Amino acid sequence: MTEKRQVPIEKGLFTWPSDKPQLIGGRCKGCGVYFFPKFYIVHKPGCKDRQVEEVLLSRRGKLDTYTIQYYPPPPPFITPVPFVPYAVGWVALPEGICVAGIITGWKFEDIKTHTDMELVVEKFWDDPEENEVVSWKWRPVKGAK
Ligand SMILES: [Zn+2]
Repeated sequence: MTEKRQVPIEKGLFTWPSDKPQLIGGRCKGCGVYFFPKFYIVHKPGCKDRQVEEVLLSRRGKLDTYTIQYYPPPPPFITPVPFVPYAVGWVALPEGICVAGIITGWKFEDIKTHTDMELVVEKFWDDPEENEVVSWKWRPVKGAK
């Protein structure tokens, strides 16, 4: 059996391949606001500055809030059949922004807000070309409160 080729869900979202992947965000040189993804340049009402520098965002943050999805997301997302519910967390980064992502490595009943979370890159789905499509997820930091 051959290893499936891992491909990122989209180019320019996170550093890959990497043992310590980081989200690739943007920072406005005018107002200093960080945002993600970097091509989301409408970052602050009233700021007309479009001078964006690419920045690597912190790998860790705190779980601000979360929700559990009991229905499949719309295409182009590919979900397993039968559908398996998953948790989505909003993680507050030191840069002052929250980034949403699927929560991995945690039972729903154990999820607690204000927990330290770290970024990982894991499989999202297998595409029709037999690639393993990977994207970022948030995992609780072991031993963290
Ligand atoms: Zn700005």
